[in-house]
Amino acid sequence: MLKNVKCARCVKCGKEYEATANLTNCSCGGILDIIYDYDYIKKNLTKETLKSRPNTMWRYRELLPVEETTPDTPLRVGWSPLYEEPRLAKQLGLKKLWVKDDGQNPTASLKDRASAMAVAKAGEAGAKIIACSSTGNAASSLAGNAAAAGLKTFIFVPERAPKGKVAQLMTFGANVISVKGNYEETFELSKKAIDKWGWYNRNAAINPYLSEGKKTVSIEIAEQLDWKMPDYLAISVGDGCTIAGVWKGLKDLYAIGFIDKLPRLISAQAEGCHPINRAIAENKPWEPMEENTLADSIAVGVPRNADKALMAIRESNGIVVNVTDEEIMAAQKLLGTTCGVFGEPAGVTGTAAVKKLCEQGVLGANDTVVSVVTGNGLKDVANAIKFCGEPMSLPNDLDLLVEEFAKRGIKTEA
Ligand SMILES: *Cc1c(COP(=O)(O)O)cnc(C)c1O
Ligand SMILES: [Zn+2]
Repeated sequence: MLKNVKCARCVKCGKEYEATANLTNCSCGGILDIIYDYDYIKKNLTKETLKSRPNTMWRYRELLPVEETTPDTPLRVGWSPLYEEPRLAKQLGLKKLWVKDDGQNPTASLKDRASAMAVAKAGEAGAKIIACSSTGNAASSLAGNAAAAGLKTFIFVPERAPKGKVAQLMTFGANVISVKGNYEETFELSKKAIDKWGWYNRNAAINPYLSEGKKTVSIEIAEQLDWKMPDYLAISVGDGCTIAGVWKGLKDLYAIGFIDKLPRLISAQAEGCHPINRAIAENKPWEPMEENTLADSIAVGVPRNADKALMAIRESNGIVVNVTDEEIMAAQKLLGTTCGVFGEPAGVTGTAAVKKLCEQGVLGANDTVVSVVTGNGLKDVANAIKFCGEPMSLPNDLDLLVEEFAKRGIKTEA
């Protein structure tokens, strides 16, 4: 029995379930939300107690749906750096800007927060095998976190998954199934296999505990800002589990009195695939879209957690922004050049959205913003090189180097 959790409640029909370890969707097909006992949490968690906790996502145990006896998972997940970026803020015309580099998690994406939760819950359920389908990062993070815990994995990825992510999967020893098809088809095959063999299900929109892991990113941001919240929080959106988790974490903190202001969410999607943002912009139910973007981690035409994501964006009075692949790659270069942060395309889509809103005058000199970089650029080096170009290349000859500098107009003084 989880002392800090009351139940799991369907976001569609309101039906309540006991929060057992292998919970999946409601019988109506709706997604479940974990409902906490905030009075219990308030009695057991203070800002002061946090100070002596380990620098991982498990420092927020009282706000997480795990048994007191469940051990922390082995890899160091969470407590990624939150950098204040005054130069980039000035360039964009913002009052303050912070970049949360969540690509610095053990397998290099925010997904580690959900996968560590999956490993913890699989342990509670007594499961020895975990499975998932993923555009790449959920897969590699599950493979890594499960390997560290000694669990076996079956992982379904669409054939377009970038090499960096596939290399991680193979190295972590997962059973990898590369599905000849898009993410939608990949998800369907994983579902059939999970039903057939009864593996523990790490599919984020099916397993209600996973976005509870993801919410630790916003709890961390709050703690790192000494509980003083920014006006806006920007994040990229695919299935919608991350933005829903971010909002849940903020609402949890508000409910227990740790913060007194809720930021507005900026939901960033790709111009070539933005079913969630379109539903908000047109105030209509979401509809499937093609998956036309190089930001593979958010190329999700059939979002699996649209209900929770749409609720989060609406409740926060959020802003939806679609950015082109060119704008995404420009943001990748901008973050690299001004901040030394290297994000994968989907990782920097939130920052691309912030830049666009600044250019449109929606955000400006009175606004404070946190932009979350959700995955590391080394995941997908092909696109980075394509956009930034190759370096100059020459033999061991100083005269040629001088010539090349002159040709390119490169100054050798600061
Ligand atoms: C998965 C992912 C996202 C989006 O998260 P969803 O829960 O699918 O909305 C964004 N960026 C990166 C790098 C991801 O791996
Ligand atoms: Zn239901």
